[in-house]
Amino acid sequence: MFKAILGAAAILSLGSAALAQADTDDARWSIAIHGGAGTINRDKITPEQDATIRAALSEALAAGSKILKDGGKAIDAITATIMILENDPNFNAGKGAVFTWDKTNELDSSIMDGSDLSAGAVAGISGTKNPILLARAVKDKSPHVMLSGAGANQFSREQGLQQVTPDYYATPYRLQQIEDVLAKKVSVADVDYKYGTVGAVAMDQEGHMAAGTSTGGMTGKRWGRIGDSPIIGAGTYADDRSCAISATGSGEYFIRLGVAHEICARIRMRWPIAIAEAQLTVPKDEEGNYTYAIHASEFMLSDEEIQQIADDVIAELGELGGDGGIIYATPWGQAGYSFNTAGMYRGRATSEGEQSVSIYGDED
Ligand code: ASP
Repeated sequence: MFKAILGAAAILSLGSAALAQADTDDARWSIAIHGGAGTINRDKITPEQDATIRAALSEALAAGSKILKDGGKAIDAITATIMILENDPNFNAGKGAVFTWDKTNELDSSIMDGSDLSAGAVAGISGTKNPILLARAVKDKSPHVMLSGAGANQFSREQGLQQVTPDYYATPYRLQQIEDVLAKKVSVADVDYKYGTVGAVAMDQEGHMAAGTSTGGMTGKRWGRIGDSPIIGAGTYADDRSCAISATGSGEYFIRLGVAHEICARIRMRWPIAIAEAQLTVPKDEEGNYTYAIHASEFMLSDEEIQQIADDVIAELGELGGDGGIIYATPWGQAGYSFNTAGMYRGRATSEGEQSVSIYGDED
């Protein structure tokens, strides 16, 4: 309803750079996924690994796309997508999670619904098969946003989530990595020893946004180290007014920049004057209050503008010394990526027919 009014009342003040989203866009949906970023070069990945990763990303993308296409919610699409990636031993989340210094697995996950800014996160957990389901349970079934360690594990059991024994997460590849770290053959900070974090962002046909991230964190982490993945605003953020973001990379830097929220805030604040002007055109009720609030999603940003905002924040991350990237979805149907590593396992699909999975930096 409002969009039509905006079209008549406010769009004239915006110039050609910003256009109101058309009503015909209502059936649009989009999704982007990632499976970690790092020094992912063609000479480091065998053709078999390449094919395995692409197949895994395609399967996850197809599952999320189907939910969105069928009219499902963004929050359900990203939950289902992330579960598939958590169950796949090729990624550093759920089965296949990296080992800590003490050769245990401590998993981090978070989820956010942009329609009401509700969020849930868990840090340093074990025992739950799918950490994203525990983050979701925190969001939906607890009065809290973030639970950690033993208490979070207890909450998981109380919620009846599927439990696994500690050896469930282990894979020979991750065991070899922790042995290398403990033997000091490689630094704990080596980005390649932690890539494989998974995430998904989406916009559903109602225009609602959601984001989620799940990881085992860094190989060889200790002292209860927590990265950005379970931190709302750093590794995950979703707000219907601006965007949905999931991050992967050197978590400490993502936390320091508040990367996920930073990108959403820059998008949301792109047109503050135009938004304020449009608000003045909204009818008031008998008490003098506006009958509805204008928000930034009414003011479309172009593909290039969105990409620039994401790239600017990732450039700042790089200047600080951080490696990694993000995936984004916007209220206008865009789905994309920005990263400063050689590659990122990633994929995107939209109602407009876009569907791709990519690994290397020189791919779309
Ligand atoms: N961001 C994750 C962390 O720092 C790791 C990753 O994305 O590869 O725990």
